[in-house]
Amino acid sequence: MPIIRVAINVPVDTLFDYLAEDASPNDIGLRVSVPFGKKKMIGVIVAISASTSIDAEKLKTAYCIFRETKPLPASLLELFQFCSQYYHHPLGMVILNSLPAKMRHNKTIQIKKPASDQSFELTPIGKQIDVAVIPARNRVARRLLSAFLQTPLLTETQIKQISPRANQWLPQWIQQGWITVKPASAKTTATAVTSPPVLTTDQEAAVQAITSHLKKFNCWLLHGVTGSGKTEVYLRTIESVLKQGKQTLVLIPEISLTPQLETIFRSRFAATPMVSLHSGLNDTERLSGWLQAQSGVAKIILGTRLAVFTPLPNLGLIIVDEEQDSSFKQQDGLRYSARDMAIFRARQHSIAVILGSATPSLESYHNALSGRYHTLRLQSRAIRNAVLPQIHLIDTRTSKIQDGLTEPLIQAIHQCLIDKNQCLIFINRRGYAPVLLCKSCGWSAVCQRCSSRLVVHLRDKQLSCHHCGHQESFPRACPQCGNQDLAPFGQGTQRVEEALAASFPAARILRIDRDSTRRKYAWRDMLQAIHKQQVDILVGTQLLSKGHDFPNLSLVGILNADSSLYSTDFRASERLFAQLMQVAGRAGRAQIAGTVLIQTEFPSHPLYQALQHHDYDGLAHILLTERKTAEFPPYVFQALLRGEAHHLNQVLDFLNQARKLAKPPKTVELFDPVPAQMHRLKGLERAQLLIQSTSRKQLQDFLTKWWMQIQVLTNHKVRWMLDVDPLEF
Ligand code: ADP
Ligand code: ZN
Ligand code: ZN
Repeated sequence: MPIIRVAINVPVDTLFDYLAEDASPNDIGLRVSVPFGKKKMIGVIVAISASTSIDAEKLKTAYCIFRETKPLPASLLELFQFCSQYYHHPLGMVILNSLPAKMRHNKTIQIKKPASDQSFELTPIGKQIDVAVIPARNRVARRLLSAFLQTPLLTETQIKQISPRANQWLPQWIQQGWITVKPASAKTTATAVTSPPVLTTDQEAAVQAITSHLKKFNCWLLHGVTGSGKTEVYLRTIESVLKQGKQTLVLIPEISLTPQLETIFRSRFAATPMVSLHSGLNDTERLSGWLQAQSGVAKIILGTRLAVFTPLPNLGLIIVDEEQDSSFKQQDGLRYSARDMAIFRARQHSIAVILGSATPSLESYHNALSGRYHTLRLQSRAIRNAVLPQIHLIDTRTSKIQDGLTEPLIQAIHQCLIDKNQCLIFINRRGYAPVLLCKSCGWSAVCQRCSSRLVVHLRDKQLSCHHCGHQESFPRACPQCGNQDLAPFGQGTQRVEEALAASFPAARILRIDRDSTRRKYAWRDMLQAIHKQQVDILVGTQLLSKGHDFPNLSLVGILNADSSLYSTDFRASERLFAQLMQVAGRAGRAQIAGTVLIQTEFPSHPLYQALQHHDYDGLAHILLTERKTAEFPPYVFQALLRGEAHHLNQVLDFLNQARKLAKPPKTVELFDPVPAQMHRLKGLERAQLLIQSTSRKQLQDFLTKWWMQIQVLTNHKVRWMLDVDPLEF
């Protein structure tokens, strides 16, 4: 009888053997239900063999192999294998966690027949309808109409994605002559709906370079200033790939960016089946998108980090947008980098991968300088006459700050409102104020479970920890001295919003941060309001800075950026620069000239100077030189052995024991265990040990051996894991 080797979602790095009489080599990559201890578990078959080292009497028989879906392709299993080895994470956990939740259940999947997918098109009459004629209580109808007004041709699937109940409005609207039905057969693949712009010389060169080498592995670093039209380069290369009948995987850092990109892609490739895969979907939606990708029906797959593990039988191109973004690296469990996995996948399939950014990560920039990646530069803004914004520094040592805002910034906002343009005030801290302080003894409210302060959320009279989610109500008096004069200290988005409302009572102000966008369609509604000019002043965190295109934004004000200038994290400057470039890049993208005002105490700091001159290369060279001298990445490769437990001593003891076991070669260096920068999180103490080497290969070889040795250290009090290429310390 054949033996199947099964990967199961358990924290042991081994495969489990079972008898399966009906198994054949075609079943590799299928899900299987097996007995595991006293439980029934789901696994994935990764190999079939004729023999096993398990004793005959101990060998169990699999319950059943699920054959309703196609198996995971061999190349994907190979990717999982690589991922498991490189990040030192059990294969079964790697595989099972990559699957949609419904595939992790121990039962057959009900595959619904896909919708006929006829399309509906807005008529000239429909185009005249104002969303306001629909009563506000019919929220779904309003959303549907706005969607039509943005993209006049929508498929049934797209309509269902707006809301499962959205299609109930269609018959009535057809009758009213607002929309017409387009049969599914009327569609052809890869026809442009919106007419594409004439490419700029830089775009043309980039598209030419990429599309003439599509069938060969190449990593292209598409380095283009904000507003240079990177998206258009993506669209043209995707078009080329669609013509070959192949799939494109587009990875983006944030779920909030999906609606905007989705709209752009849909209006260019209206007839092309496309799916989005991100954590905002429910289990059914996610499964359905995943299956469409796996079957090859979906030609464009737009997703966040996890989408890199989607089975794609006909992959022709991978795009990683905003490649420098740290959200591509998962920060718990399997600590993988989706960008790096994307590159591995492109190499596997001998296809192109595009890393797009205005401020590439120093790792990628270094790879481009050394010739491992090919650089494509887009030097100027794509829209004719649009120029990069003017950046000015407001010295806060001479300009007094009131409620977080200086007089020159207030003046500029005032002028912006008179000109009927929009402005954006950026402050990367949500809540009202970062600290609640006792004015008489200096006590401040801290989280009991984390080494962090509690943030003041004035509106709901709560103090909240942004690390663990803990909330408590305001204390009546200082717990230390009894004084009742407790005051919020510093600025958060809510306080800035309040201050702006006081200064500009007639202005329409919209705050965009994680609190205000929590509701499911909040983002979409807010973006629409901005595009329809229903907002004058935007106040927001980095949520706003990424990728969004606001054509009427002429002024950006940046508050409180200084705090990251002198951080102990060696990547802080790189990140701050990328973030500020991105925010600054929101200004003046169309016909309006943009201005950026930065309030700072350190106007002569090299980072601000580089920013002012839009000089990424200048700063990158300074930072790379520093990294080289200090032996930091990208000149060395790093890994962290992380541990957490109830007491710091337990963690440090464990790390010291692990260190004693290590027999590193000369090229691999182990440092002393130290507490993590955030040493307490969610009630656990955390510490870590840094390992680094100039050779990635030697580091890997060492980690593999060492990992096995650490396994033997039985210390149940400490939870530990290896973090390869760590971004957080
Ligand atoms: P990036 O992602 O590089 O910051 P976008 O892709 O958002 O820039 O493009 C910025 C703006 O330029 C968009 O409004 C886009 O429609 C426009 N655009 C892109 N390419 C062209 C072009 N060749 N001609 C005119 N406008 C363009
Ligand atoms: Zn006090
Ligand atoms: Zn906390």
